[in-house]
Amino acid sequence: MQYIPNILFSIALAVGIGYFTINIRKIIRNIKLGHEIDASDNTAQRWSNVFRIALGQSKMVVRPIPGLLHIFVYVGFVIINIEVLEIIIDGIFGTHRVLFSILPTGLYNFLIASFEILAFLVLIGVILFWTRRNIQKLKRFWANEMKGWPKNDGNIILYFEMVLMVLFLTMNAADQSLQSLGASHYVEAGSFPISQFIAPLFNGLSEGTLIAIERGAWWLHILGILVFLNYLYFSKHLHIILAFPNVYFGKVVPKGKFKNLDSVTNEVKMMMDPNVDPFAAPAEGVAEAPAKFGASDVMDLNRIQLLNAYTCTECGRCTSECPANITGKKLSPRKIMMDTRDRLEEIGENINKNGEFKPDGKQLLDDYISREELWACTTCNACVEACPVSIDPLSIIMDMRQYLVMEQSAAPTELNVSMTNIENNGAPWPYNQMDRLNWKDEN
Ligand code: SF4
Ligand code: SF4
Repeated sequence: MQYIPNILFSIALAVGIGYFTINIRKIIRNIKLGHEIDASDNTAQRWSNVFRIALGQSKMVVRPIPGLLHIFVYVGFVIINIEVLEIIIDGIFGTHRVLFSILPTGLYNFLIASFEILAFLVLIGVILFWTRRNIQKLKRFWANEMKGWPKNDGNIILYFEMVLMVLFLTMNAADQSLQSLGASHYVEAGSFPISQFIAPLFNGLSEGTLIAIERGAWWLHILGILVFLNYLYFSKHLHIILAFPNVYFGKVVPKGKFKNLDSVTNEVKMMMDPNVDPFAAPAEGVAEAPAKFGASDVMDLNRIQLLNAYTCTECGRCTSECPANITGKKLSPRKIMMDTRDRLEEIGENINKNGEFKPDGKQLLDDYISREELWACTTCNACVEACPVSIDPLSIIMDMRQYLVMEQSAAPTELNVSMTNIENNGAPWPYNQMDRLNWKDEN
């Protein structure tokens, strides 16, 4: 009978972690629907980016106030997980504050005090984040693509974090009261710089009531963490895990450098060399033309682009810097990432249902992302520069444009005219090459 809570806890833990693992495997499977891409280059630079951008949050602090608040929430959340480790051990073995018997008293008290201060900072941070979203109504959180689920998702996460932190501090406050009553099982352990201000609320309560409060907060806190863990799969909050691999695999070449298709480059070189036999088999090492140029659906994208889509935090920093968006065009780089994820998840659901992907008559192009959006992009890279987790919306835009131009010859008229001019005149203007130097005779 006395082991029932431990058994229940172990079952809850196994179900929570098991369900999370199943969903993470689905995400990995979906990302693998993309093309493989070689990211074995620049290893030192990649690790440096992980430490600087993902761990060090260097891009977040470009906007100091939200950056600082985010650091509170991020550091608090990461470090408080050490406390969760203790909760898990206590839950499985029926111990109480097990780390107190393992760590030196001073260190243990310091850790608990740090957790409390961080929990308080997290609480302040999420309350201010909620205020910015819902009272101050920052423009980037009220764009068209942020209606419905994305808006609710942003708020649900903040409520989750608020409740978890309040439960954590309540649990400590009740524990502290039980310790001062000398209740058995509640060893004198920990230092409580924040919850000491909550503890007086419990003055006069019986030991039984205090135990009920402490156990209630303990259970709700750990079950809340397990629910939160599983909520990540459905949420933009997945970035707390994926930001690290995403930054590692982020672009490490100069932003303005576009990838050329080797097969096309070879084709052009052959056109310029009168001695080449156009019917000869390609020489060894020369790239063959791909089966399809560019991307019309998510399976045509590469795995890093699909990882990008799952990592997007929907913060809108990219869109708020996008000149096309600022000047009223339909394009929002955040929406490009959200659409890519939505389509990828739709395909994932299709596979879950049918065992393999059954064509559903839809694709990323036109059904999610319009041509108007794609051609509104100036390719300025401002979105890539602004993204705090190294996402590259431009690469998706460019791949989809490549599909339109090379597979469908469907570029806008102005562009087609320029491309024809380049082909015929070696310049985008409609003047014969022979007339190039006419300007010098004009005066
Ligand atoms: S690259 Fe395109 S999408 Fe990105 S900021 Fe510039 S115009 Fe906007
Ligand atoms: S792409 Fe980056 S900057 Fe844009 S919304 Fe997503 S996380 Fe934020």
